Amino acid sequence: MILKVSNLEKIYKGKISFKALENINMEVCEGEFVAIMGPSGSGKSTFLNTISTIDKPTSGSVLIAGKNPYEMNSKQLSTFRRKELGFVFQQFNLVNTLTVGENIILPLTLDKADIKTMKTKLEEISELLGISHLLHKRTYEISGGQAQRVAIARAVINEPSILLADEPTGNLDSKAAKDVMKLFKKLNESMNVTIIMVTHDPNIASYSDKTYIIKDGNIYQEIINRNDDKNYK
Ligand code: ADP
Ligand code: ADP
Repeated sequence: MILKVSNLEKIYKGKISFKALENINMEVCEGEFVAIMGPSGSGKSTFLNTISTIDKPTSGSVLIAGKNPYEMNSKQLSTFRRKELGFVFQQFNLVNTLTVGENIILPLTLDKADIKTMKTKLEEISELLGISHLLHKRTYEISGGQAQRVAIARAVINEPSILLADEPTGNLDSKAAKDVMKLFKKLNESMNVTIIMVTHDPNIASYSDKTYIIKDGNIYQEIINRNDDKNYK
């Protein structure tokens, strides 16, 4: 199991405290593709932030690859995040002063990988995602759909345990959105990348193996989209 969430609760404390997540339990296996769906304000971002080691839960536990990120010091945590997690956002968050290729290898540069390893990994991932012809372009020369593919390449080049995606198709037209989902499927199937994706769009969620519906901070429903011989660990 790659993610185990137990009795997760998040209360935003302030003049008026607000319970954004209540008693959430979830287990995600290696190689699973999970979607989190729910109306605006239901707690999707809060959930994603707590499982992505960004926002400490009020109570309950989060285990990623068997480790509790909230028991780590900040140095351990940033290493852990870089090693175990890849992030994709609605806004592609590319660095405009760098080329496409430089953006993709950014996580490897931070890890001080050697040039040859970087080059090989860049070639492999670019080919898989169909963006080899874009590597020397600037980020403002490519389309939104292409930018998201670049962001995905950057998110998985380190071979993270989990790819976390927050509304990854939110800024794309339906054709580009579909293409991004096909790439998620491809990464999931060929690299066995575990994906946890937040979306408000049922069409997008239907690409996942399993969809959890969150409502008022609770898991309200679990929908199995795929029920074949995929062998989860
Ligand atoms: P979603 O992503 O589903 O739109 P959020 O997780 O952003 O939902 O928010 C869930 C609820 O928690 C909302 O009612 C929101 O207003 C509230 N909330 C989110 N962040 C904070 C915060 N930092 N302080 C107080 N309330 C918050
Ligand atoms: P989304 O629907 O994508 O979650 P939101 O507009 O709900 O976006 O939230 C954007 C950011 O604002 C989030 O980081 C969330 O934590 C924060 N936020 C949301 N509601 C509140 C609130 N009532 N008080 C403080 N921060 C909030």
